[in-house]
Amino acid sequence: MHCPFCGHEETKVTDSRLAGEGRQIRRRRECLKCAERFTTFETAELVMPMVVKSDRSREHFDEAKMRHGIVKALEKRPVSQEAIEAAVSHICHKLLNLGEREVPSRSIGEFVMEELHHLDEVAYVRFASVYRSFQDVEAFRDEIEKLRRHPRRRVDSSQLPLLPGADSGADTTTDADGKKR
Ligand SMILES: [Zn+2]
Repeated sequence: MHCPFCGHEETKVTDSRLAGEGRQIRRRRECLKCAERFTTFETAELVMPMVVKSDRSREHFDEAKMRHGIVKALEKRPVSQEAIEAAVSHICHKLLNLGEREVPSRSIGEFVMEELHHLDEVAYVRFASVYRSFQDVEAFRDEIEKLRRHPRRRVDSSQLPLLPGADSGADTTTDADGKKR
């Protein structure tokens, strides 16, 4: 590319490295005429599918919005920023691999839940309870059953209030809104 300072046609690359989780190449360049230095980023041009919402309207896939939902579910949980970025990358790859031009918003929610299930069970339940709004208590119980059948790790006792029914010996049940009945 031409030098952005003097417009000269020849620049040389002085450094080249991966950036953005390997999704970008960052190059330091130097103009052969004026010797000014500048940085370029090279990324693959990938077209994400359009998102079809439940009311059938379409919107562009918004990576920042999805990341925000994940970060919110993981608030105060012991999960690193690096692990969050890796989860976002996985979901973007999955969306691209679908090879579809349109994807229901529900699928994105499911992908997020899959990632959260691996990262942190508490965040998973938080996200799932908001995402699916769990008007149907049975649906909530199904999610808890899935967690019990495929635990990522042993559930420690401090998490029990978030996992109603996880203690099989319990004789009380708890609604999704936390009320005993
Ligand atoms: Zn120049």
